[in-house]
Amino acid sequence: MALQFRNTLTRQKEKFRPIEPGKVRMYTCGPTVYKQAHVGNFRAYMFEDLLRRYLKYKGYEVTQVMNLTDVDDKTIRDSTAQGIPLQEFTAPMIKEFFEDIDSLGIERAEIYPAATNHIPEMVALVRKLIEKGHAYEVDGNYYFKISSFPNYGKLANVDIGGLKAGARIAADEYEKDSVSDFALWKAWDEADGDVYWETEIGKGRPGWHIECSAMSMKYLGNHFDIHTGGVDNMFPHHENEIAQSEAATGEKFVNYWMHCGYLISEGKKMSKSLGNFYTLRDILGRGYSGVAVRYMLISTHYRQQLDFTVDGLEAAGNALERYNDFINNLEDYPGGDSGGEASDIIDKARKGFEESLDDDLNISGALAAVFDFIRDINRLKAENKLSVAERDEVLKTIRQFDTVLNFTFEKEDIDSEIETLITQRTEAKKNKDYARADQIRDDLLARGIILEDTPQGVRWKRKM
Ligand code: AMP
Ligand code: ZN
Repeated sequence: MALQFRNTLTRQKEKFRPIEPGKVRMYTCGPTVYKQAHVGNFRAYMFEDLLRRYLKYKGYEVTQVMNLTDVDDKTIRDSTAQGIPLQEFTAPMIKEFFEDIDSLGIERAEIYPAATNHIPEMVALVRKLIEKGHAYEVDGNYYFKISSFPNYGKLANVDIGGLKAGARIAADEYEKDSVSDFALWKAWDEADGDVYWETEIGKGRPGWHIECSAMSMKYLGNHFDIHTGGVDNMFPHHENEIAQSEAATGEKFVNYWMHCGYLISEGKKMSKSLGNFYTLRDILGRGYSGVAVRYMLISTHYRQQLDFTVDGLEAAGNALERYNDFINNLEDYPGGDSGGEASDIIDKARKGFEESLDDDLNISGALAAVFDFIRDINRLKAENKLSVAERDEVLKTIRQFDTVLNFTFEKEDIDSEIETLITQRTEAKKNKDYARADQIRDDLLARGIILEDTPQGVRWKRKM
């Protein structure tokens, strides 16, 4: 089966064909940096991580752009309320965002453009829309004229039949029933404080939607492969992005639109405005690991709703233990006889993993293939039917799966931490500081790590 994705635009699964063979250009709506991101936001970034990792697994070269919305209604509202200059207000949020994606093992996108660094591009886009008759000005505000763009509403399935001529909305966010001409550029008013730019179209600041059109097209071209976000981005944000971009360029903007379902908590969408949210730091503070949160977020199909629960985190922890123990034990396994079965088991696992993910990132099928693989190989080991060469092939396979799943990244951190401690212990012994050397060995033992002095140097293994 070939790789296929469900395209929101056509409401169908479609075979994935990149514009340029072997390359994928994708854009992801990034965080609005007015508050710490919550785990609901990370569900969206996790789905995008799975997508980009699997595209790379399939051999594509991926260019992902994820913007940082560092100027919009909310960042202005909260920074002026606190009397802090906008960039000073958003800087710590941006820093924490990157720390959080690292804690979750989310691979970095290639480019993270910040909206405030792209005002000239936004102004140029607004001017183009004016020139082409798709935008108009009212008191220094510029609006997109929906009636000038017949395709408006195709993505989110919005009926614009009842649209009132001249109805306008200035807010960045609004519901489907208030569909109307929307703001591209907002003239400065007192509530904006010192957040404004002096430009050819006046003193003001961009609307949220134009930011993503300008930044995506700058880095990915007028026409690119994939655009992603959470379902709440579909209307009005993505609908407006399509209108602005296609009206300006006359070209198709994006081939595949992909949206993930909500992370819910207490029966409702987890959101900052409802207050039913947890930040990643809340959860890590309760003793759960980043990789357990990763597992929980990734292991439900991206288009399904995912209920955030403590039970879900516990289950994730158990599955991860099985997965990591399997790899650790296999690395230490000295190898036995070959029973001739391993290569079929490996082929079956690979097929199950790839066929599932090829089918619109069916992660449940892929994880089932991985855990069947673990069970089957453990049986071969127990029956002494796994040779050294076969063991190496199994390890190679699971490590390839892990380039997509990334369930071992904390293990790598532990490995390097232990290596550092071993070096410190060797140093201590050299300096005849035996108390310190013993202390390091005992501390590691308390964590289940056994050190062995061998002629090749110090080795470590886990207590079984
Ligand atoms: P925001 O910072 O609100 O602009 O949101 C950033 C990203 O998180 C967007 O792609 C949203 O669609 C997504 N998002 C926000 N809340 C949730 C949620 N509860 N579940 C899944 N995705 C979400
Ligand atoms: Zn966006």
